[in-house]
Amino acid sequence: MIIDLNQAVEFLKNNDDFLILTHSHPDGDTLGCGFALCEALKSCGKNAVVRCGDTAPEKYSYMGRLCEEDIEYDNIIAVDVADAKLLGKDFEARFGSRVKLCIDHHGSNRLYAEKTLLDPTAAAACEIILEVIKALGVEITKNIADCIFTGLSTDTGCFRYANVTPRTMHMAAEMIESGADHSKINIIMFETKTRTYVALERLALESMKMYLDGKCAFITITQDMYRRSGSDESEVDAIAAIPRQIEGVVVGVTMREKTDGTFKVSMRTHEGVDASEVCAMLGGGGHPRAAGCTVSGNVNTARNLVVSCIEKYLQEDVNN
Ligand code: AMP
Ligand code: MN
Ligand code: MN
Repeated sequence: MIIDLNQAVEFLKNNDDFLILTHSHPDGDTLGCGFALCEALKSCGKNAVVRCGDTAPEKYSYMGRLCEEDIEYDNIIAVDVADAKLLGKDFEARFGSRVKLCIDHHGSNRLYAEKTLLDPTAAAACEIILEVIKALGVEITKNIADCIFTGLSTDTGCFRYANVTPRTMHMAAEMIESGADHSKINIIMFETKTRTYVALERLALESMKMYLDGKCAFITITQDMYRRSGSDESEVDAIAAIPRQIEGVVVGVTMREKTDGTFKVSMRTHEGVDASEVCAMLGGGGHPRAAGCTVSGNVNTARNLVVSCIEKYLQEDVNN
């Protein structure tokens, strides 16, 4: 059931113990939402913990720490999680069908939760969380401001992408007024690369292939590349932005090999190609400019499958 802000706030006010879940391979938005909401609920005298099926990369640690104890509360809230399967295998099995409130900004949200507060016009789920926190009457502390600013900045590629609205900018300004360390956060998120990341990026660039008359650039990251670079999957997110940067490319794809033999696809597009629609053809979803899905097969069949879906989409676009 879709609910509005007041109904979400009622749910939070009327209950006491909350288990907040982020999506697996957590990013700045889902963690920013989780830690900001957790602090706000605690300041209302409630119990709350933030948990994730994966560990969080160290660079996000200034926002807070995930709860590593196996704490389970009945009031389960998922933040920035479009589909129960994005909780990760174990968490999906344990909590996927028991989420009471989902707060999200993905137009493709599967409405798997009992109640969903959804705003696809929000550039980051943190925009919605800030409105929830304000409606709870909680003061915006420096830490809450850091968390919300992190979500706004990371989901907009440092305020560069088409999802930015005046509201995003107003909220970012407000967070700076409340003490957010904007330059420190942006340096950590956008101007700092580990050596292992740079080694992985070099291999990723070498793997790049062009398709569809230069409209599609495709990066493939294999398990072997993690071994050779000393990097791991937590460092792939920044690579996903690269293929779309090439002149003439309208669809940039980064496909990473998982340990179970499947491939996770990250798609980034320019105006005119709805990444969420293309990924929906493969059982995934996301936003108009950034979406994802999982495909199986060997490297070549998986890549061909993704390229053929893009080709089909572009073809239909021409015919319409
Ligand atoms: P990613 O490429 O993993 O950064 O994902 C881009 C956007 O698409 C994010 O907002 C994800 O939450 C969303 N997304 C990725 N994979 C899926 C999927 N399988 N189903 C629905 N949404 C997804
Ligand atoms: Mn996210
Ligand atoms: Mn998000």
